[in-house]
Amino acid sequence: MDSMYDHRYERPLAMVVDACTECGKDIYEGEEYYTFGTDSVCEDCINDYVRQAKKEGI
Ligand SMILES: [Zn+2]
Repeated sequence: MDSMYDHRYERPLAMVVDACTECGKDIYEGEEYYTFGTDSVCEDCINDYVRQAKKEGI
């Protein structure tokens, strides 16, 4: 999609609400992420996280 907006201005006041347990990336308010108990997992890591969880039989 073409956009007139500079990406830097899309979320000028985004708050960091959490950090990904897997990659340590900040998770901003309004972003999709997943929580499992005390773990918070960003969209980038969810597939790996689930695969790992299945392997470990959680
Ligand atoms: Zn992550």
